[in-house]
Amino acid sequence: MNVAVIGATGRMGTEVCKAVIDSPDLTLVAAVDPAHAGAQLADIIGVNSLVTISGALTDLVVDMIDCAVEFTGPATVAANLSWLLEHGVHTVVGATGLTDEAITAARQSASLGGVNALIAPNFAIGAVLLERFATQAVKYFPHVEVIELHHDQKVDAPSGTALRTARLLSEARSTAVLPMGGDADYPGARGALVHGIAVHSIRLPGLIAHEEVIFGGDGEVLTLRHDSLSRSSFMPGVLHAIRQVATLEGVIVGLDQIL
Ligand code: NAP
Repeated sequence: MNVAVIGATGRMGTEVCKAVIDSPDLTLVAAVDPAHAGAQLADIIGVNSLVTISGALTDLVVDMIDCAVEFTGPATVAANLSWLLEHGVHTVVGATGLTDEAITAARQSASLGGVNALIAPNFAIGAVLLERFATQAVKYFPHVEVIELHHDQKVDAPSGTALRTARLLSEARSTAVLPMGGDADYPGARGALVHGIAVHSIRLPGLIAHEEVIFGGDGEVLTLRHDSLSRSSFMPGVLHAIRQVATLEGVIVGLDQIL
């Protein structure tokens, strides 16, 4: 399969380019990242590749691409996704920040282009398992809060993973329990209310991507925690999505859908 990486010189894009190059069944044929347009990918991220970095999606030869992988960021992902789908390119999306409206628009674009997309705010298998265990636990422990911890360069908060976790928890619990305790003197101390669940975001150098779901019961507390200690943790999920996306139907959200 011929793969294009959008946001290729970013933290995640670099890791995806390396993982694609290291996969015998995949070929990296294009890389898009405006700040390095015209440069050799090999010179910028130190990989063994002859790809020249493109400055825009319009530079891509779409007929040559079997799958694009989008890892830019919240400000650019929606427009890039629609463009890729409308131009007939199956797309795997890792960038976070897509709104429900953007996903609806992507469904229309996918139908226009006759292709599919797999959107996952977290490609780590451990994060998918945390999600699964948390939705089981919340049936017994409706009092729940989420803490997500990321590196200090992350631009969005709460994380896409935490937004999804909060939505799944709220759908899975039978009793809605509003978080207790005011923060009138220190606004934000109780986190952001997402689907009725308090979500707390921590940004510090040294962190990569971590999430804790804490359940409170009668005289007991259950904590589920996942830590991505390296961006390599996302790569098996990304590679699996690249290989599966052409077999899907339309736009699918969540890595769990293809495991
Ligand atoms: P990053 O290091 O800032 O990388 C983003 C790259 O995209 C940068 O090189 C940026 O260039 C480039 N870019 C910006 N606009 C672009 C455009 N229109 N076309 C092509 N490239 C463009 O960010 P990151 O840490 O890799 O994270 C990227 C996204 O992935 C974030 O939304 C993050 O939350 C998400 N993420 C998802 C997962 C997952 O498992 N799904 C895991 C980790 C992170 P400039 O720097 O010049 O703007």
